[in-house]
Amino acid sequence: MDGTRFKLFPQPRFLDDYEEPETVYVSSPAGTLDPGPADDRMYTIFPVGKPAPYGINPNPGSDDDVPMPPWTGDIEPPAMPDDEGHFDHLEPGTAQFEAAHLFGTVRFVLDVWEGYFGRPIPWHSAKHYERLELTILPSLENAYSGYGFLEMGGDRKHGRYKPFSLNFDVIAHEVGHALIYSELGVPHPSGTTGEYFGFHESAADLVALISSLHFNSLIDRLLHKTSGNLYRLNSITRMAELSGNAQIRIAANDVRLSEFERGWIKEHKLSQPLTGAFFDIFVDLFHECLLDYGAIDQRVETLSDELLATPDYAPVMQALFDEAYSDNPDSFKMALIDARDILGTYLADTWRKIDRNSLNFVDVARAFEAVDEAHTGGRFATLIRGNFEMRDIGKIKVGPQLAPLQKDSHANSVRTVVPLD
Ligand SMILES: [Zn+2]
Repeated sequence: MDGTRFKLFPQPRFLDDYEEPETVYVSSPAGTLDPGPADDRMYTIFPVGKPAPYGINPNPGSDDDVPMPPWTGDIEPPAMPDDEGHFDHLEPGTAQFEAAHLFGTVRFVLDVWEGYFGRPIPWHSAKHYERLELTILPSLENAYSGYGFLEMGGDRKHGRYKPFSLNFDVIAHEVGHALIYSELGVPHPSGTTGEYFGFHESAADLVALISSLHFNSLIDRLLHKTSGNLYRLNSITRMAELSGNAQIRIAANDVRLSEFERGWIKEHKLSQPLTGAFFDIFVDLFHECLLDYGAIDQRVETLSDELLATPDYAPVMQALFDEAYSDNPDSFKMALIDARDILGTYLADTWRKIDRNSLNFVDVARAFEAVDEAHTGGRFATLIRGNFEMRDIGKIKVGPQLAPLQKDSHANSVRTVVPLD
């Protein structure tokens, strides 16, 4: 049976390159989705008159009830499938399109990661909630993956209001948190480390990055703009032209773990050395795959090592990549897809192995190395270890939390709160 069609924006709609959404199929067989959209795992609603987000006490300090799903008040009319069960007929600019975009994106990201895990990913809240509520709250300037819900606000800080329900990266990031809660769970309070929160943010960013690389249009655009020279993404001066992709901007960073030896404040900042290491591993895996396809030769790899940190690096490497890419664009695309799937598979296996209690980055790194050993006998061991060491992972201990989580955090109680049995 065929899947169900949705129109998704691979990147936020306000970016010029992505004025048009891409039509994708998600795995739900056509005709099986209910109005909302909804299925047996989740339902989408756009509440009318919802006063406050879920999971946060509306009057801090009081013992008022924390609002939790389900929402029982009024809702906008649900998104309706067409005669064949698809949702790609809906028009941007309507509540129904937003709801469909939210559902379609969550299903798309789940399809990607259930593929890497090789099985369905249950919800962390399955014990208390049969289905996850996907809910839209324009008054919320954040997005939360909570117990029994995924709630999407919007961005008011940068010009006109931009709903997160139309932002693939934000939704995929929150699905990433939900996935980690499901696979790892919440640590015991005595075993909670700063690195647990940093790991969570890193995993959520990687879920979003790898998921976004499942859009054909995004892969084509990335290769077209760089000729496959993904190293250039690490160069801050080059970032402006690609800064449209928030996930790549976050992942291609230079932050080292030693910056946090004295302590940390923002978990998202603390996550960057880990995310950066995985991004560099991804770039190196891509090169290995390009060598396998014969799309670049060893000369490129060798030159890259020789010229590293010299002024010749960027122009020489770019010229080599421009030539290699124009000779063999299809091999570049296959190599990128292979590298993406190696990283996705390895991460899924890694997350299954690590312990939520006393979690630290070096354990994540060693688990990732063990996964490579199991899959290939350690073919990529040197490049993996080298990239973790470049980030000081395994060399230093992260210091204490220096201040409470900030208002812009979304790792506060809203996400870690679980019902007491
Ligand atoms: Zn997050």
